[in-house]
Amino acid sequence: MASTFKAGAITGVGAVELVDVPTQEPGIGEALVKIEASAICTWEQRTFSGAQGNKFPFIGGHETAGTIVSFGPGYKGSLKVGDRVALGGASCGSCHWCYTGKDRVCEQHYGGSVDYPQGWGPGGFAEFKIHPADGLFPIGDVDADVACLTEPLSCALHAARLSGASVGMDVVILGAGVMGLMNVIAMKKRGARVIVSEIDAVRLEKAKKVGADVIIDASKEDPIEAVKKLTDGRGADIVLAAIGHKVANEQGMQMIAPRGTFVLFASAHPEVPVEVGPNAMHNNEQRIMGVVSSEKEDFYIAAKLIRQGQVDLSSLIQNRYQLSDLKGALDEAILPGTYRIVVKN
Ligand SMILES: [Zn+2]
Ligand SMILES: [Zn+2]
Repeated sequence: MASTFKAGAITGVGAVELVDVPTQEPGIGEALVKIEASAICTWEQRTFSGAQGNKFPFIGGHETAGTIVSFGPGYKGSLKVGDRVALGGASCGSCHWCYTGKDRVCEQHYGGSVDYPQGWGPGGFAEFKIHPADGLFPIGDVDADVACLTEPLSCALHAARLSGASVGMDVVILGAGVMGLMNVIAMKKRGARVIVSEIDAVRLEKAKKVGADVIIDASKEDPIEAVKKLTDGRGADIVLAAIGHKVANEQGMQMIAPRGTFVLFASAHPEVPVEVGPNAMHNNEQRIMGVVSSEKEDFYIAAKLIRQGQVDLSSLIQNRYQLSDLKGALDEAILPGTYRIVVKN
């Protein structure tokens, strides 16, 4: 191992620098991973574009896949040096949330973050990374470009599981960007009928391609009426907002059936409050729930689906860049309508 490795730091709005980070040995409970690929998510996009206030320098990259180089002392798990893995959430194993199987809420969930003198963040835009060994999930011999999408798929599987989606249900996904499509794939896996509402015709076609049963062009028809018509006037059992937008939230609230659930999947920047009619919710026994990130169960299953070829995520990848051109990758990623940009080593 060389004494330093390269990492791509966002040093300010629109600015990127390749920095040299000193190589360290993994500690107890950790593993050193040689990174093969990391995809650019909205967190990195918003940091680079300045839409989300964030501390610089920031080393992004939380949708990451690589190969295990070494373990810290005393590793007793079943992974081996040379195994290819996706990097997911960690957990302490001994808090209330871990004991009750809700490790997403564990304080150690984001314990894989890095904090170098050269920058902080999830740290995937780099040649190497030390990661908690319990946050590594086997991906077999799948291409790294696709394997790094384990993390976003796990978030969609988490949302689908917590929402209670199952066969026979009508599910509406609002928005057909990358995360909208991931949610289409996840909801289809749980057997639901999936309806996608979106204003962009190209994105709607993409939604059909990944498995949406019905698409609604919200630029041409009233999506609330369309959903009511498709469900004999009931509304949808689950509506998931994959875009953090006031209009989407308001529409979504009006689309849910009695006993229905509205899922807030996306964060909103800026955050605009949504008005809720408590009596309507009370009388119709409806729920609003937030979801973020995923649990080990979801991450493991996402990796398994990808490893076994049970999902095809290749159409979600728009382009690939080398780490040395991280700026070019981010410039393209923040263009409207872009799907995933993957940064490779
Ligand atoms: Zn992400
Ligand atoms: Zn814990």
